[in-house]
Amino acid sequence: MRYKEFKDGVQLSRLGMGTMRLPILDNDNAKIDYEKAAKLVDDCMEQGVNYYDTAYIYHGGKSEEFLGKALAKYPRESFYVTDKYNFQAEPDYRKQFKEQLSRLNMDRIDFYLLHSIQDSFADEMIGNGCIEYFDQMKKEGRIGYLGFSFHGSPEVMKKLLPLYPWDFVQIQLNYYDWYFEDAKELYEMLAEAKIPVMVMEPAHGGLLVNLTEDAAKELKELNSENSIASWAMRWVMSLDSVQVVLSGMSDENQVNDNVKTFAEADPLTTEEQERIEKAAKIQHAAITIPCTACNYCTPNCPKGLDIPTLLKCYNEAKIGGAWRVRHLKDMPEEKGPAGCIGCKACTRHCPQGFEIPRYMEELAKMLEEV
Ligand code: SF4
Ligand code: SF4
Repeated sequence: MRYKEFKDGVQLSRLGMGTMRLPILDNDNAKIDYEKAAKLVDDCMEQGVNYYDTAYIYHGGKSEEFLGKALAKYPRESFYVTDKYNFQAEPDYRKQFKEQLSRLNMDRIDFYLLHSIQDSFADEMIGNGCIEYFDQMKKEGRIGYLGFSFHGSPEVMKKLLPLYPWDFVQIQLNYYDWYFEDAKELYEMLAEAKIPVMVMEPAHGGLLVNLTEDAAKELKELNSENSIASWAMRWVMSLDSVQVVLSGMSDENQVNDNVKTFAEADPLTTEEQERIEKAAKIQHAAITIPCTACNYCTPNCPKGLDIPTLLKCYNEAKIGGAWRVRHLKDMPEEKGPAGCIGCKACTRHCPQGFEIPRYMEELAKMLEEV
């Protein structure tokens, strides 16, 4: 396992274990398969992973308790635990923090984050006194290092950075979001502020593991031995400010593949970087709709749907997950994707011949699951 110094002599493994996708029983996310999940923790410990990430809400609130138990047999100084304050689940930060220590059965949390800050509640969350409280916990030794994880815009990130001398920040970072979302801008802001970056979703929730055949071919041609996931891991590792790359490992194969990548991987060559960019572009073209917003379709829609905007939302949902466009749920249902009656009047007028009703149906379904 490769390590990188964080600060104060703390050496963190480049690979961190995320505990939000542990093996479960009865298809119930709140029922962790303790035996299988604990074996994954043991495998990671054995392979030198020393960074373990949990949160108040993972696995229906059971992840922290699981992690505390799974790590209890190891010397406390042999691992670092990361946990997070979830404002939406329980705004009372004092109550939540105490509960977390109790669930973990620990008297300190090494790395602590304000969880998943988004534009919609950032002001309310950071203005409620939680930063001052967690700073106090840090002074009292209950928290080692304080940071935040982020799913918001660069504008809000800009507001957050001067608020506190953050020890680290966690962002969604992978080669896909770099080329097609705002990950590059967020990363560069953190690099400029010299704040270590913890990476979540390095494989974009599986999107970069299950590449289309054509996209995967770009990488396989270079090296048929390496797994598709390993390219995504190597890509994030090659960024200077990246400290730890989190992977939510669900089975032994993932652990082994990650361990191999993080033990052996060399920096990417220029050719490899170029191939990855090409693969990202092929993948992007395969899953998104290149609507030009020409509006030829809209006057013909009997339901008056704003088709180009809805297709833009469809693309966002495909790339970043449906939660990114959940604001569509606030609009009258008849004006959203569910308002489409499948008449195909739009398709006949679209110069690109897009099957718009199919995308409306898919988007409506994605929104139902948010
Ligand atoms: S298929 Fe749907 S989006 Fe297209 S014109 Fe008919 S109602 Fe409008
Ligand atoms: S006609 Fe086609 S390309 Fe033009 S806005 Fe409608 S869906 Fe997009």
